[in-house]
Amino acid sequence: MAVTRVSNEELDDQRLFMQRVRAVTHVFDHRPLAYTHSYGCQQNVSDSEKLDGMLEQMGFGFTDKPDNADLVLYNTCAVRENAENRVFGNVGALKHLKQRNPDMVIAVCGCMVQQEHIAERMRQRFPYVDLIFGTHVQHRFPELLYSIYEKRNRVVCIPESDGVVAEGLPIRRDSRFKASVPIMYGCNNFCTFCIVPKVRGRERSRSADEIVSEVSGLIAEGYREILLLGQNVNSYGKGGDTDFPGLLRKLDALDGEFVVSFMTSHPRDCSHELIDVIADSRHISHHLHLPVQSGSDRILKLMNRHYDTAKYLELADYARARIPDIQLTTDIIVGFPGETYEDFKQTLDLMRRVKYDSAFTFIYSRREGTKAAEMDDPVSDEEKGKWFRELLDVQGEIGEKAYEKYVGRTMRVLCEGKGRTYETLLTGKSRQNIIVDFAGEESLLGSFVDVKITKALPWALKGEITAT
Ligand code: SAM
Ligand code: SF4
Repeated sequence: MAVTRVSNEELDDQRLFMQRVRAVTHVFDHRPLAYTHSYGCQQNVSDSEKLDGMLEQMGFGFTDKPDNADLVLYNTCAVRENAENRVFGNVGALKHLKQRNPDMVIAVCGCMVQQEHIAERMRQRFPYVDLIFGTHVQHRFPELLYSIYEKRNRVVCIPESDGVVAEGLPIRRDSRFKASVPIMYGCNNFCTFCIVPKVRGRERSRSADEIVSEVSGLIAEGYREILLLGQNVNSYGKGGDTDFPGLLRKLDALDGEFVVSFMTSHPRDCSHELIDVIADSRHISHHLHLPVQSGSDRILKLMNRHYDTAKYLELADYARARIPDIQLTTDIIVGFPGETYEDFKQTLDLMRRVKYDSAFTFIYSRREGTKAAEMDDPVSDEEKGKWFRELLDVQGEIGEKAYEKYVGRTMRVLCEGKGRTYETLLTGKSRQNIIVDFAGEESLLGSFVDVKITKALPWALKGEITAT
């Protein structure tokens, strides 16, 4: 599909609006402060880094509390109902702040408000929300904000679109050594439970040159962990010159010490070639997040996942054979409409068979506008809750021992932050994307060290530095 790219002229217009907002906020008696919060997945976090980048260019500083903010921006998630309820609760809680400071601008954007019925509910229930904008116009944030400062009117901007790609927006990155790099946007898979294709538009890939140039710039700036993002990275570049394994090869050829990880890999399009590229690479993370969703072929079909458990197990086995220290993780949904206890037991069997290092587990959440929302769903919430607890117990047992294989090994670890337990404890990530805690000086933050693993916990490893 041809990629709809936001033109340079349109981006220049937005730069002009950034200057205009800057001129407006310049006359405040203080530097304006923004409080921004992102819900949901890494893609949202990455979008928020761009929204923050634009805010910075518009003269804003940042605060970690909404109480003293001049602007509050929530970037929302629609994947499950509880994420939406949290947003409604948090927006509701802003009412008294707005009463105290009527000049505060409140903005809500992202996947949740891209759904018309939710945007309408937000508009009616919270008249003090100034700006509501969808996923396809995030690059127009400066223009929308300027309209609020200029006219003091409410703005709701949620155009329907197949989606665009906007290059060259300013980015305010959260970390000095970890960077997220979206390689594609949207999704064409239409899993029957999932709202993402509806709110994020059709699948579209960035150009390989643009990605390679961004990543090499980041490495030159000192970034050491690059996370490539896409809803289904394995279909990156479909119809173009560079596919996902090809992109990884190009990134792996760059010089320097760094790790490239990626998510999410859809089992339908995950190939032996991809696994071979990881196995033979210098820089690609030995972590494969391969969401299985269910261990029942009947349910996988109803989910429209386009693979069966035989294909999935073959891939998992191949990955473990080619990359023996690989960390395999997954997503699982419990209580999909029509799922029986027999289906659910097959999920437990598959988990025991694959022995995931960890799993993200979710109770099915009905999403209006998806196919699954129309299916019969006779199992009670209480019953689904029981299954869910059983699933957690099984993964708990598997996860308890999953990291034991790393004890005694020396692993190269990127020091990422201070640990939570005591002053000198640092925390970092191994090439397998496993958390490793060890004692060390803060000056090591952002560099790689060798750590000999002395202990395995269910969620992390502990060790001692052997070389820096
Ligand atoms: N594109 C990724 C893939 O296909 O694996 C997943 C993206 S989705 C944001 C992350 C996870 O949320 C999914 O893998 C799925 O397990 C879960 N999820 C999505 N829709 C859900 C729903 N309606 N109810 C419960 N969990 C859901
Ligand atoms: Fe949703 Fe499926 Fe697309 Fe993932 S691949 S974003 S689960 S529709």
